[in-house]
Amino acid sequence: MQKAKLPLTIDPYKDAQRRMDYEGFIPVSQLSRLGEFVGNVQTDAQVTLSLSVDPQRLTVIKGTAEVDVELGCQRCGNAFTQTLGVEFCFSPVSNMDQADSLPEIYEPVELNEFGQVDLLAMIEDEFILSLPLVPMHESEHCEVSVEEQVFGELPAELASKPNPFAVLANLKKN
Ligand SMILES: [Zn+2]
Repeated sequence: MQKAKLPLTIDPYKDAQRRMDYEGFIPVSQLSRLGEFVGNVQTDAQVTLSLSVDPQRLTVIKGTAEVDVELGCQRCGNAFTQTLGVEFCFSPVSNMDQADSLPEIYEPVELNEFGQVDLLAMIEDEFILSLPLVPMHESEHCEVSVEEQVFGELPAELASKPNPFAVLANLKKN
């Protein structure tokens, strides 16, 4: 069965009362803000969401999201694919005072002017926050470690070859 496109916005209070679950995707074409932080967004984002009301009567948006992006390795400079997987647990707030009084287990997500949560912005933020500060290959896939091995075994005659600039300087003298 083909999965549905995730709605762009939800009414979290209504959905929490009905204990709504979402399983859907955000198409690559909509992930343009994430695209500014990576070489390329390679797949649609797969998202699951569960809405509920907790014992303190707080609305909870719990879920997961996954997307493949292309990053540039900071060690060898080549591109590689990284899967960004995030888990989140939000509670909607209408202002920052409300955010301060939330229990620590919840991240605040601000409601827009229509009292809705912008799912695209919320999930893109999570992906951007999960990006590695210094993207690098796993060492077994990184080309630098291979090059270093080759360099370490440089044949003796190559290592003792005279500097080409020194050779040029000698020619000019003659
Ligand atoms: Zn690398």
